Amino acid sequence: MNARTPETEVQAGALPWRLDREALVGWLREVDEDRVARLFATADAVRRERVGDHTRYRGLVEIGNDCQRACLYCGLGAHRRGLPRYRMSPDEILGAAHEALWRGCDTLVMQSGEDPAFDLERMCGVVRRVKAETGLAVTLSLGELDDDALGALRGAGADRYLLKLETTSPHLYRRIHPAAEGDGWRTRARMLRTLGALGYAVGSGGMVGFPGQTFADLADDLLAYASLGLHMVGIGPWVAHPDTPLGRHAARLSAPPGWQVPATVAMTQRAVALTRLLLPAAHLPATTAVEVVGGAEGQAQSLERGANVVMLGLTPAPHRAHYDIYPNPARALSRASTEV
Ligand code: SAH
Repeated sequence: MNARTPETEVQAGALPWRLDREALVGWLREVDEDRVARLFATADAVRRERVGDHTRYRGLVEIGNDCQRACLYCGLGAHRRGLPRYRMSPDEILGAAHEALWRGCDTLVMQSGEDPAFDLERMCGVVRRVKAETGLAVTLSLGELDDDALGALRGAGADRYLLKLETTSPHLYRRIHPAAEGDGWRTRARMLRTLGALGYAVGSGGMVGFPGQTFADLADDLLAYASLGLHMVGIGPWVAHPDTPLGRHAARLSAPPGWQVPATVAMTQRAVALTRLLLPAAHLPATTAVEVVGGAEGQAQSLERGANVVMLGLTPAPHRAHYDIYPNPARALSRASTEV
C-alpha cells in the first residue's frame, strides 16, 4: 500500500478536507488529538511546499503609542490614564531600521496607535529614508488613514499595510469598538480594498478567544480572510489586560460555555493551520501575542503548524515598556510608572 502522507497529498494538489463553515467549526472544536495532529502536519507540509522551508524575520518597531481610539481590549486606548505617551523621532526609527538590516530582516514593520497628531509629511519622509538607506521592504500598521494618505505613503515607497479587522463580524466588532465613529468595521473592510487597489500587499487578521467570540464567529473570520485574498494574516490569542474594559469584565461578556472560543495558544494554532490550508501562499506570523502566552516554545511550535514569519521586536528600550497593548513580561513595564 502506498501510504498517503500530508506531503504526498499536498504535492498531488489534493487537500484532504473540505473547508466550509461547518467543517471549520468542526476542526476548531475537534477533541480527537490524532486528528488535530494530522491537521497540523498537513498545514506544515502546505507551508513548506508553498512558502518554503525558511522562517522569515520582520523587524517590528513600535513608532508611537498615542491613540485616539478606545478599543476595549487594548492597553493603548484613549481611555487609558497614566500611560506615558511617546512618538519616536525619524532618526530613532532609522536606527531601528539599520538594526533590522543588521539582524537579517527583509522587512521593517512600523506600527503605532492611531496617532491623533499624525503627520503625513513626516511619515512619508521616514518611509523614503528607510527605503533609501536600507532597501528593506516597508510594512505600515498605523490604523485607519484616508485614501489620500494611503496613496501618498505608497508613493513614498511603502510596500505593505497591515490593518487587522480583529473580528469579521460587524456585530462583534461594534461590541469591542463602541467608540468608533460611524461603522468602524465597514471602514476597515473598505480600507482593505483601497489598499489592494493602490498596489499594497495587504495584511489583516484578528484575535482568537476574546470574550463573546464563538467558534462560528472564528470560522467566519477564516473564511473572510480567504475571500479577501490577503497576502498576510496575523492571528493571535486575546490577552486579558487588567487596565482595559474587556480585561476587567471578561466573565460577564463571555459567550456561554461550549460556545466561547478559548484564548489559548493551541486554539490560535488551529486557526493558523486552517488559514494555511485556505490561503496556502500567505505569510502567517507566529505572532508576538503567541509568544507572550506560550513563550518561545509556543512560538517555535507555531512555525511547525502553518506559520512562517517571526516578528523581531526592535523598539528601543526607553519606549518598549510603554507600548503596553497587553501585559508582556518581557517588556518589564513597571506598573508603578503608569498608575495615576
Ligand atoms: N493601531 C493600529 C495598529 C494596531 S496594532 C490599528 O488599529 O490597526 C495592535 C494590535 O495588537 C491590534 O491590531 C490587535 O490585534 C493586537 N491587540 C491589542 N490588544 C490586544 C489584546 N489585549 N490581546 C491580543 N491582541 C491585542
